[in-house]
Amino acid sequence: MSQASLLKTDLRSDLRAIVGEQGMLEGDAVRERGATLFHGRIDAELLVRPRSTEQVSSILGICHARGQPVVTHGGLTGLVNGADAGRGEIVLSLESMNTIERVDVAGRSMRVQAGAKLGNVQRAAEEQGMVFPLDLGARDSATVGGNISTNAGGLRVLRYGMMRNLVLGIEAVLADGTVLTSLNRMLKNNAGYDLKQLFIGSEGTLGIVTRAELRLVSRTRSQETLLASLPTFDAMVDLLGRLDSGLGGQLAAFEALWGNYYDYNTTPAAGNSAPLSRGAPFYVIAEALGGDPEHDRAQLESVLGEALEGGIVSDVVIANSETERRAIWAIREDVWEVQNIAPLLTFDVSLPIENMKAYVQEITQSVHGLAGENRCFVFGHMADGNLHIVVAAGDDAATRARVEDMIYRPLAAIGGSVSAEHGIGLEKRAYLPLSRTPAEIATMRLLKKALDPKGILNPGKVFA
Ligand SMILES: Cc1cc2nc3c(=O)[nH]c(=O)nc-3n(C[C@H](O)[C@H](O)[C@H](O)COP(=O)(O)OP(=O)(O)OC[C@H]3O[C@@H](n4cnc5c(N)ncnc54)[C@H](O)[C@@H]3O)c2cc1C
Repeated sequence: MSQASLLKTDLRSDLRAIVGEQGMLEGDAVRERGATLFHGRIDAELLVRPRSTEQVSSILGICHARGQPVVTHGGLTGLVNGADAGRGEIVLSLESMNTIERVDVAGRSMRVQAGAKLGNVQRAAEEQGMVFPLDLGARDSATVGGNISTNAGGLRVLRYGMMRNLVLGIEAVLADGTVLTSLNRMLKNNAGYDLKQLFIGSEGTLGIVTRAELRLVSRTRSQETLLASLPTFDAMVDLLGRLDSGLGGQLAAFEALWGNYYDYNTTPAAGNSAPLSRGAPFYVIAEALGGDPEHDRAQLESVLGEALEGGIVSDVVIANSETERRAIWAIREDVWEVQNIAPLLTFDVSLPIENMKAYVQEITQSVHGLAGENRCFVFGHMADGNLHIVVAAGDDAATRARVEDMIYRPLAAIGGSVSAEHGIGLEKRAYLPLSRTPAEIATMRLLKKALDPKGILNPGKVFA
């Protein structure tokens, strides 16, 4: 049964006058996009696809005047229901604003429109011999605007930092349509407040990012990737220290895999080979980026040789080709393989490394105490204090609430965070007070009120 529209007819015609017929989607064509969301839902009736910052500004000007809520969409790969859109809201998609405007090799920066896909940005930098260092599994769908709005992290944070460290400048459109052009290109600029930081990680609630000036780094000459099996958690901490100091700052990634995650992702059904035998308590995937291939390999072998002799590492392989390197990373990145067991609940928490062993023991015990068949897999960016937890136990509302409680509650006492890199969205907003003080949340609300007084930008996300 079709429902009456909650949008006024003159809103449609005003928006059509800005973006044209091609720039609008209506009805099922909008709602069908919800199928690609992770646990999400799109009930909005109308989607607009502006082609320029000026069009974004005009759209927001109209929406602000009418108090019309707007949800911004990038590549829809976010994992916390941040892009969900209800009836009565309209969607503004950046998909037609995907131009890579300039790569400045000498200045080590590039300017892009916010709808550009991360993978295309990486390739454009590579064509000029440079690297845009943000990297994550969803690289060919996620957009730079989405990466900025979620302050994405990924696989090389240890070396290059999160998106916050990789953005030099931003152009954003405020709720009332004001265009805030702050496209700084320099690494250093202390002239007053650093306004771009307001939009990084604020999940589309303070403004719509339309363009960005990104930081580039030079391509390194050597890339070494290793997979090691280890007997204990403490051995992983030891190995992290040895690689960090022994490789002279070349360590770029250090990913921990609890044994059952490696074992499951290397079963024939998962389709990944097992370069090391299965059954070890822990595995580590690490990557080093350096300047002298021969010397760097020798240095790595020396550090690993000592770790093997000291019983820190049980076994280890170093990739000898790009194919072997990809095969090692696939074991880490094929997160969704485990959904063959049961519907998944996924978590991305951060906590001090010294608390990780006890925390993982506690949550695993709690999950195993649930009725029925259930499994708890842990892996993630250990060096960043960031663990991903995947619980295969069913995703009905009651199970979800119980499991969320098991994962999140223990974090408060150890100063952890309910979101290391995915954000809060709708999914985690009830748990925000576990990671932020009342004064912090009050200040966030103050900022929201100041920049979006009518509350039209991504309403209800981050906090109610
Ligand atoms: C397979 C997979 C692997 C992933 N791995 C990682 C990882 O390693 N590290 C990590 O940090 N994340 C990871 N993610 C999640 C990550 O948050 C997203 O991939 C990405 O950063 C979101 O970009 P998007 O364009 O898809 O944004 P969307 O999903 O479209 O939107 C995300 C949020 O940003 C807002 N938004 C989008 N564009 C704009 C804009 N231009 N202006 C204002 N607000 C905007 C939306 O309203 C929403 O709140 C992964 C996701 C998947 C599916």
